[in-house]
Amino acid sequence: MSETIEYIDPRFYELTQPNARLERLHTGSLWCEGPVYIADADIVLWSDIPNDRILRWTPTGDVGVFRQPSRHANGHTRDRQGRLISCEHGARQVTRTETDGRVTVLADRYDGGRLNSPNDVIVASDDSIWFTDPPYGILSDYEGHKAESEQAGCFVFRLDPATGDLRVVAEDFVRPNGLAFSPDERVLYVSDTARSHDPEGHHHIRAFDVRDGRLENPRVFAVIEPGVSDGFRIDTDGNIWTSAGDGVHCYDPAGTLLGRIHIPEPVSNLTFGGPRRNRLFITASSSLYAIYVAQTGAQWP
Ligand code: MG
Repeated sequence: MSETIEYIDPRFYELTQPNARLERLHTGSLWCEGPVYIADADIVLWSDIPNDRILRWTPTGDVGVFRQPSRHANGHTRDRQGRLISCEHGARQVTRTETDGRVTVLADRYDGGRLNSPNDVIVASDDSIWFTDPPYGILSDYEGHKAESEQAGCFVFRLDPATGDLRVVAEDFVRPNGLAFSPDERVLYVSDTARSHDPEGHHHIRAFDVRDGRLENPRVFAVIEPGVSDGFRIDTDGNIWTSAGDGVHCYDPAGTLLGRIHIPEPVSNLTFGGPRRNRLFITASSSLYAIYVAQTGAQWP
């Protein structure tokens, strides 16, 4: 038994490691986000947005600066070629870091205006890049640079990196944020975190059916309490592991809350990592945490 793990549904005993210890791998940041596991190097990168840096953790416990300034980078993922894909609040763009270290801008404008501040990003098996564009990086000078929005809303986008074609796939979010595909990529989950700046705002994850690169049949999948679902990942059985105000919450594919992993600080995001992909790396306010679970991550990489 563990004080860290709260079992709401008996199935959560099989998804977690009851004797696993929550480890704090690093602290001292201002607002951590965007963890990504780099399998070939066995390292974790994550953003410290207000400090304008990307940090790097290695299994020996060393933590160093991967990139500073980072143009206030937020969410990251990797494409099928293993290249780092990053959302940058400060430069209001999505970039790809090439294998030689050069940075290529993939998207920075839509319909004649600059993007708001790309927040989180995933890559599908057809190489398309899906990202959210809320205004958190332009609301103040804390996580980016204060500026007016040049977009008609806060959209979810799909980018074809081969052609540069950038399309809006959802336009009715207030603050779209984290996103992830089901393991078969038939369902896309996207969170709305409007409550972060509005007590009455949304704090839920929505689900959509994905058909030919478009979204259909929107529905509310889960309402997060306390806090918001800033970021989340999905395991190989389709369970959703999401950030919340008191830790990590786990939902089955039907939307039933199975249990919680309590974290001492509000959680922003997480990723499955480690050589077995059975270790959750969790960004939470000032710190990076890790805990082993009994599931493996479905997301690429
Ligand atoms: Mg986010």
